Amino acid sequence: MPEKFDVGIVGTGLFGAALAYHLARESSLRILCLDTVRESSRPNATATSAGILSVQGWDPWDLSIVRETAEEYRELAEEEGIEPVHRNGGLRVARTEEGARWLERVQRVLEREGTDARRLGSGEVGELLPFADLTDVRAGLYTPDDATLSSPAIAEAYLRGARRAGAEFRQGPGTVAVAPLPEGGWRLGEDPSIALGALAVTAGAWSKELLTRLGHPLPLAPFRAQAVRVRPRPLQASFPTLHDLDLNLYVRPASLGRLLAGDGTGSREESPHLWDPNADSTFVEEMNGTLRSLFAGLSSMQVEAAWAGLCVASPDRFPLVGRVPGGGRLFVGTGFNGFGTMRAGGLARRLSDAIRSGRWEALRPADPLRFPSATEPFEPRPEFPLEVEGEGTLPPPAGAAPLGDSSPTPSGASAGIRYRHIFGVGEVDELRWTSLSEWFDPFLRLFAKDALRVGGTVEVAEEGGLVRGLSLFSSSEGVGSGFTRTRTVAERYLEQMEPTGLYLEEPWRGGGEPVEIFAADLRDWESHERIRNPVRIAGPEDLPRIRSLMRGELGPGVDRWLATLPRPEETAFLCEIDARVVGVSWLSRVGTFARGHSFLVHPRFRGIGIGTDLLTARMLWLRRTGGRQVVSEIYDGNLASRTAAERAGMALVGRMYHFRPSKRA
Ligand SMILES: Cc1cc2nc3c(=O)[nH]c(=O)nc-3n(C[C@H](O)[C@H](O)[C@H](O)COP(=O)(O)OP(=O)(O)OC[C@H]3O[C@@H](n4cnc5c(N)ncnc54)[C@H](O)[C@@H]3O)c2cc1C
Repeated sequence: MPEKFDVGIVGTGLFGAALAYHLARESSLRILCLDTVRESSRPNATATSAGILSVQGWDPWDLSIVRETAEEYRELAEEEGIEPVHRNGGLRVARTEEGARWLERVQRVLEREGTDARRLGSGEVGELLPFADLTDVRAGLYTPDDATLSSPAIAEAYLRGARRAGAEFRQGPGTVAVAPLPEGGWRLGEDPSIALGALAVTAGAWSKELLTRLGHPLPLAPFRAQAVRVRPRPLQASFPTLHDLDLNLYVRPASLGRLLAGDGTGSREESPHLWDPNADSTFVEEMNGTLRSLFAGLSSMQVEAAWAGLCVASPDRFPLVGRVPGGGRLFVGTGFNGFGTMRAGGLARRLSDAIRSGRWEALRPADPLRFPSATEPFEPRPEFPLEVEGEGTLPPPAGAAPLGDSSPTPSGASAGIRYRHIFGVGEVDELRWTSLSEWFDPFLRLFAKDALRVGGTVEVAEEGGLVRGLSLFSSSEGVGSGFTRTRTVAERYLEQMEPTGLYLEEPWRGGGEPVEIFAADLRDWESHERIRNPVRIAGPEDLPRIRSLMRGELGPGVDRWLATLPRPEETAFLCEIDARVVGVSWLSRVGTFARGHSFLVHPRFRGIGIGTDLLTARMLWLRRTGGRQVVSEIYDGNLASRTAAERAGMALVGRMYHFRPSKRA
């Protein structure tokens, strides 16, 4: 007897992963997910996506899909503890009369659909992107709901959730062979040891070939899209994603202060076996040149990476998600025309609902039945569709009976999270870390060990042996710190915080006071400040005098940490005047990453540039010793520290938050 599954899903990029998640969580169907081992040089589209989610104004149905997707990704990211969905807003700009009129039309549609969309004049546009030269822009449209995200992290989170809900996975080399069974359904491989009641082809650019081999060709055309990541100087804090209609490019903020830009959409059909995954050199050169003239306010830009990926076009630029004509229980989900990241979550949920219930209305504009047979070859037209040309009439449903709708209780990631205290410094090295923080990941081990060394408490939140949260408290620091990307973990930290409060990187709830994060990349750093005061690196013999300065300013809480020194990862820069230590700045170093902390100048010696000198010396030393990235937190609107950091070449790149327990009535 063959092993039976209710649904086989061929292809687990973002769309297939989302479909598996919904089917597995919302029904008791037995799901088998299949994928091939991809060469890393030819990744799937999900791995190459720019991760932009923008609320569009060309079609209300599509807009509703994007909004559902945004909501779903936000919840998923918080539940699974991955890089958050950043609601950074979107800015579309036009320089021509025609472009300005188009933006007006888009705004009308968005407003009618209840989406916040604000028209901006050329001056207001410049305020949103102060480093860009947008003086010749005629009109702008700002949509605060636009967001950025990591498409592979979302796909991974869906797969984790699907696995937890019972979906099974097989990955094999080469093409997965599926064929129809005479009695209905599908078999996997030559030997019918696996039978699939229904089959969903969600294989991205490879879907066309698979469907053709199954005898059900659909009008699809894979095409290349390209993107580039650049490192600006200064590094940038989050800004609204820019869509420049005239220059035909988009630019979004990327992690660690970078910019991610693209335009490059090919208009030629590609073979999924022969396409070039490298960005064209002309694309990189042109993009580099355009970005340099557009972002005239930046001192420099270095291209760090450039790549291409494969998208899939359809003749009318609407997706193909639903029943395959004449295919019985054969379903498809592809043809996203370069916008699959922002549509996958909502469309996959609707496909899952339709497969289970047999009701297809919610997918009507995407229904593949609008192409009863494969059309003539067509050229991809990957630009934004501007108009909807009428919905057309759909042929009657073609025999895909519902698969049943029983709904098991979904089990979220938080159900499997365990909390435990760590007591020994050695235990920290045995932990299996996941990414918990954009800027502080390299330092988490060090923070945990420091807290233990000074007699503080360290608690980790683990799921399946992987660290999903780290909570630290030491009386010498005074305020606790929590690092997590998982909402339930963050909520626990907020509930249990000490009266002195807690630092968290995300604004999990209102009321957190912002703490600024400053950073620089030493590879692009140039010294502009001449050091005027006597600054040098401290030796162990300086520790007593450093202690008395720090004690005087910060209190005796510093003693315990200072007693753990000297250690190779900690370097102090000090300023000495008349044999007295009047300023100090510390640097923790982990490989090429450094974090500046405990920076202070004696009150009587402020205003003479000692702060800037200490930070400049720190940067010079770091660059000379192969350091790459330096980061510092600047607390409570400390203007002097902010000015010194900016003078020393660091830039505001983000914020974290200081939460305090709410007062009880
Ligand atoms: C450079 C670039 C930038 C982009 N930026 C954005 C953006 O900012 N916003 C946006 O909304 N969209 C964007 N997109 C589009 C988006 O990335 C895609 O629409 C989306 O990722 C498609 O996901 P998918 O699951 O359909 O396909 P894929 O991610 O390609 O997944 C298909 C899967 O099928 C598997 N497969 C193939 N053949 C077989 C087989 N025979 N058997 C089993 N498995 C198989 C593959 O291994 C792969 O894992 C961008 C695309 C590119 C290339």
